[in-house]
Amino acid sequence: MRRAAMNRQPDSPLVTAINAHGFREWHSYELARSFGYLALGVLMLVCALAIMEGVFERPNAFERLFKLFLTFFSLCMTGWAWWRFIQILMRAEEIGRQAVCHQCQRYGRIQALTESPTDDPQYRSLTCRCTKCAHVWPITYTVQSRHVRP
Ligand SMILES: [Zn+2]
Repeated sequence: MRRAAMNRQPDSPLVTAINAHGFREWHSYELARSFGYLALGVLMLVCALAIMEGVFERPNAFERLFKLFLTFFSLCMTGWAWWRFIQILMRAEEIGRQAVCHQCQRYGRIQALTESPTDDPQYRSLTCRCTKCAHVWPITYTVQSRHVRP
């Protein structure tokens, strides 16, 4: 909020999210969020299997078709939830691995300054400052998907 007034452009959602409650809080929230998607995926897989059970023994063709559709939908949800799980977890871990200050070796005591694209569209750069010794360094992370919210 303080920085937004000084910058030409407002902080990116990732910078805002990291600075809102601190890096460690953001990181543990991301892990919890990713495992929430993992649990959703497992739940949808169980649903798919439960719906599929005995589907071909049904005499009613419409009911059979409807249950097959529900199974397919549940499996799609499983795939989507697990894809989200991987994306969110990978980004949190990739940023987390680089969140050690090069100067004082403190982990996770960072303030995010700016987020910017790199020459390679596959990566983005997050400039951070150590809240203990004020050392500034870039963290580079892979763009898993544009749909991964901060
Ligand atoms: Zn430091």
